[in-house]
Formats: sequence, C-alpha cells, structure tokens
Amino acid sequence: MTANRKRSLRRTAPRASARSPFTIALLSVLAVATSCATLGIGGVTLISVEEEWEMGRQLEAEIAEEMPISDDQTLIRPVTQIGERIVAQSDKADLEWRFHVVEDESVNAFNVPGGLVYVHSGLIAEADDEDELAAVIAHEVGHGAARHGAERLSQQYEMALLAQVVLGEDPGLVQQIAAEIAAAGTLARHSRSQEFEADELGVEYLHAAGYDPEGMLRFFERLLELQEREPGAVERFFATHPDLEDRIEAIEEQIQELRAGVQAPR
Ligand SMILES: [Zn+2]
Repeated sequence: MTANRKRSLRRTAPRASARSPFTIALLSVLAVATSCATLGIGGVTLISVEEEWEMGRQLEAEIAEEMPISDDQTLIRPVTQIGERIVAQSDKADLEWRFHVVEDESVNAFNVPGGLVYVHSGLIAEADDEDELAAVIAHEVGHGAARHGAERLSQQYEMALLAQVVLGEDPGLVQQIAAEIAAAGTLARHSRSQEFEADELGVEYLHAAGYDPEGMLRFFERLLELQEREPGAVERFFATHPDLEDRIEAIEEQIQELRAGVQAPR
C-alpha cells in the first residue's frame, strides 16, 4: 500500500460502526493481506493471539514513554513472582507475560493487550499481604487471558488501523493508544460481565496457585471503605472496575463452592 493511500485511509476511516462499501472492501483486502484472523461481527476479537502479543511489545515500549514505570526491584520482584505463579494457572501460560509497577500513589492496576499487567505502587502499599496483592494481579491476568483488552481494542479501532499497529506500520497510532491508556485508562475500562469473568478466573487462579482467594474479598472490601474515607485515592480503580458490591457477593459464592468442592470431592 502506498503512503498516500495509507494516509487517506487513516483520515477517512470512521470511528463508528457505519462503514462505507469502500471501507468494507479495503478491510477485506487488509484482512487477507495481513492474515488478521477473520473479519468478525460483533464482539469478536479481530486479531489473533500471536498478533495481540506482538502488538503488546509495541505498546509496552510506548507506555514506558507515557507513564512513570518503576525500576525499584523491591516492588517489581514480588509483583513478577506472584504474576508468574498466577499466569501458570491460566490457559495462556505458554506465552510471555510482563509485569510492571507504575509509580503512582493512587490505588489501581490494569491489563494491556499482549500479556501486560501494570500495578500502581499505591496499590502495593495498600495491600496488607501477598494474598491481597495476588488477588488484584489474578483479576488482571483474568482480563488478559480472556482477551478483554484485545476485544475492546478491536471495537474501538478500525480493523485496518489495528492491522497497521500489528504490522508496525503506524507507530503514531501505537503512541496514541498508549497515550489513551496512560491518560484515561479507556482500554482498561471493561464491561460489567468482563469484570465478573475476570474475578471468576482470578479466584480460580488464586486457588490453583495456592493463594487464599479470601484475599480478593478482603482487598475489595477495604477499597469500598477507602472510597468513603478517601475517594480520590480509588477514583480510577472504581472507574475501571465497576460494580464492586455485586462482585464481592459473586466472589463469596464462588469461594464457598470451591470450599464445598474441596471438602466433598465428587
Ligand atoms: Zn477489571
């Protein structure tokens, strides 16, 4: 594709779902040209797992430009060790995951497509023990393993634009996506059903990895208290992790079922 055509595509590609016949034709051509999985309809992730992980590498580099990534090994080491122990329980254990600490006093954590998990230093400080920190990491690994971020990315960006990111043809767009993640966490904002799914996967991983899944309950309940006491500290967490009260109930039920399963194996 010529540079001119690429530029005009970028300018004319619509953000909304309405696609001109011209755009649809272009997308089909690109889908074949880039082996970008199938051109999905509604909710289907348009990029393959391999492509997602490839894109993750580019996003990781860009996010490091946008956010204060910590080089404090006393924080990074435990997060990575916990993260790897949890990832080993997931269905994406054979892929490379990367764990980063963001120097930010607010309590938050988020997943970025391609096996990237970011934990704020403020969240590490708020976690009382390893089980609580593991709970948050397990939730984020749950989002990543279920590919919620990739789904979101596919919805938010035209297939043609996303293909350029994966192919490394449009560093400007990678920068833009990284900046959006850094500024507003838009890609980290998940639907209610995705939040429940990430919790459920997280509890499974915690249990399988030998952590106490109650850590998730304890930590989430403390965040609710913190929201009343110091709303600013958890504002972003609640913006990107909605419906916490309902989720706590679901987590309690799941843990009870897990315990019942352990006590009375079928
Ligand atoms: Zn979440």
